[in-house]
Amino acid sequence: MANPVVSIIQSNLPEKWQEILSDLITDPKELLQILQLDPDTRPYSLAALKQFPLKAPRPYVDRIAKANWDDPLLRQIWPAVEEENNLQGFTSNPLEEDLFNPVPGLLHKYQGRVLLTAAPHCAIHCRYCFRRHFDYQTNSPSRAQWDAAFAYIGSDPGIEEVILSGGDPLAISDRQFSWLLGQLAQIPQLTTVRIHSRLPIVIPQRITTELLRCLAETRLKVVMVVHCNHSQELDRVVTHSFSMLTEHGVKLFNQSVILKDVNNSAQDLIQLSKALFAHDVLPYYLHMPDQVAGTGHFYVKDREARQLMKAMHAALPGYLVPHLVREIPGELGKTRLA
Ligand code: SF4
Repeated sequence: MANPVVSIIQSNLPEKWQEILSDLITDPKELLQILQLDPDTRPYSLAALKQFPLKAPRPYVDRIAKANWDDPLLRQIWPAVEEENNLQGFTSNPLEEDLFNPVPGLLHKYQGRVLLTAAPHCAIHCRYCFRRHFDYQTNSPSRAQWDAAFAYIGSDPGIEEVILSGGDPLAISDRQFSWLLGQLAQIPQLTTVRIHSRLPIVIPQRITTELLRCLAETRLKVVMVVHCNHSQELDRVVTHSFSMLTEHGVKLFNQSVILKDVNNSAQDLIQLSKALFAHDVLPYYLHMPDQVAGTGHFYVKDREARQLMKAMHAALPGYLVPHLVREIPGELGKTRLA
């Protein structure tokens, strides 16, 4: 008998993910109708929607429980009125990334590695996103402008790793991705490409045969960091995409953000680590939320985060406990809190 998960993926031909991408839910009213929620019971912020529109892929919305305003996946995409709160210390550019932007599309913050903003958009808009105010317009290089980025990398023999970020780097087509990886593979001192993506979680159909072929064939070591915040985000299609990536030589890690009323419970974080490991994904980082304007309602204090870590250490083997970290502008790497 055919494996039902494989059938789902195979029936989703390579272009299927792009169809899903072009059919995102962008209207809060439609989202509420699907989720059987009464729009009169919880308003949303028009100002927040204008600044950072709703974007939710249907396969992700399928994993949200019906008639539950407190669903942890819904909370991550809902443009709450709290986004209008102007909180002290919360700014549009808390990481001061523009200070590390020598060439359009390239950030050089840490020694030995650079980050390329490979795509100017994402498949989902996570309301807590630290780049929700990022100027993608001036950081979306054309092919010609990419040459300057490749020349910058090539001119510094200390750079061994390129981090593909975004937006979401897997939001570009297989053809574009293959071109980009091919260009990077030609830079002699590079050893590793790291892909930070939420697409395997939110549209797992993105893991196409063509993408897998390209990842398996590159001379570079491929590391993929998926961004999963809650075990409810992992369904059978998602975990099958993990298996396919692993089978094609990709090392899988996860990073999460601690988010109030999404995953700030020891039970949820422990469950997430176990569920990831069951599918060969190592929990790597647990990020403190950045103080980004519009995201204060997700903020969790250090004391609470440390308590959560204590509970995780008590319940899990060390290799399943992610590092609790924060990004501090100007630091040479992430700062560990516990
Ligand atoms: S996928 Fe990542 S970059 Fe895109 S909105 Fe979500 S958190 Fe931000």
